[in-house]
Amino acid sequence: MAQIKFELESKFGSIYGVEEQEAMMAVLKKNAPTSGDACIQFEADYAAYCGTHYARAVSNGTAALFLSLVGLGIKPGDRVLTTPLTWIATAAAGATLGAEVDFVDVDPETYNLDVTQLEKKLTPNTKAVLPVHLYGQCCDMDDLLSSAKKHGFAVVEDACHAVGAEFQGKKAGSMGATGCFSFHEQKNMSTLGEGGMIVTNDAEIFERIALYRSHCTRVYGKSTKYCSLDETKLPMGKRFWWQDFDDCGYNFRMTDMQAAVGIVQLKKLDTLNQKRQEICQKITELLKDVPGLTLPVIKPGRSHVFHLYPIQIDAKAFGMTKEDFIWTMREEFGVRIGTHYIPLHWSTAFQKRGFKKGQFPVADGLAERLITLPIHPRLTEEAINYLVDSIKACRKQAAK
Ligand SMILES: *Cc1c(COP(=O)(O)O)cnc(C)c1O
Repeated sequence: MAQIKFELESKFGSIYGVEEQEAMMAVLKKNAPTSGDACIQFEADYAAYCGTHYARAVSNGTAALFLSLVGLGIKPGDRVLTTPLTWIATAAAGATLGAEVDFVDVDPETYNLDVTQLEKKLTPNTKAVLPVHLYGQCCDMDDLLSSAKKHGFAVVEDACHAVGAEFQGKKAGSMGATGCFSFHEQKNMSTLGEGGMIVTNDAEIFERIALYRSHCTRVYGKSTKYCSLDETKLPMGKRFWWQDFDDCGYNFRMTDMQAAVGIVQLKKLDTLNQKRQEICQKITELLKDVPGLTLPVIKPGRSHVFHLYPIQIDAKAFGMTKEDFIWTMREEFGVRIGTHYIPLHWSTAFQKRGFKKGQFPVADGLAERLITLPIHPRLTEEAINYLVDSIKACRKQAAK
């Protein structure tokens, strides 16, 4: 019982094994450098996995989103659209650059940005749209990309939930101007608790991302040997090494220790995702007849990698509100149920920016009903059964 509770309490997204330990030891023996050979290898493997020309490892998913907008040249006053049902990082990327951030309501079935409601939100100033492949299923990329072409905005995919998911055979993150990933401890693959990646097919965007990731540094010269700044006074032909900065940038580098783990995790990713899919298929099978629950819908042409398992709770039919359900599961059964997410227009951060509750009716309605189950590939048969039985017990209790 204690083991089952532990499995349902901790929501770690991935599993590490001896392969990761060995990879880390190898980097440690090289004095654990920052972004070096392991990062270069990880980036090459990652680009190949996603089917993109380029990949750049960064310190986390937030940095991936922010740098993507920097790469696109987003500046104060530009308009950036996203969904209100996401982690704040997606919307904060634009806001911290001084862009005007607005939201497009969500699709009631997939919980993703509703592309049919996008056009009414577009202005000539709209430079980027950030769809989020929420819970592990891609947004409707066909309609979004044709709208992007027609109206001239860039698509930055927030694929932090959806590493390995596909839309019509294409990998999440590989379809927009850039795709952004997080390797935070709770994501489907992780690089020691933090990490991120940007993929793109665009050489110019990649160049800017690569520069701004590391202080816009350019190093010239014949030797990497340190020479004093005075060397810039020497005629070109006599300099060994000198450095310039194109602009003021950031340090969003990943370490080689993280990248070495990432290389191994990427090799395991498809197996880990498959495990999640099997677990979720079982849960769906076991819960499908429980009244008052709306289980995830997988749209044709898409695969779902189940970063999370979303359920809508109809208080009347289930006999219990979402809040009471979360409380009962926690207090009586020791299962931590999630709420991903409280809509961003309910947050102080965006109410300060003029948003109000009720402005995005679909997201507002979902906020009253949507919960997420703790899913990770370590869940055993016993833990799955315990989870499902606890949900059914709540329903019975409510029916009394
Ligand atoms: C995790 C996550 C991020 C941010 O990633 P970090 O690595 O935590 O910075 C952004 N968007 C979504 C949807 C996420 O789930």
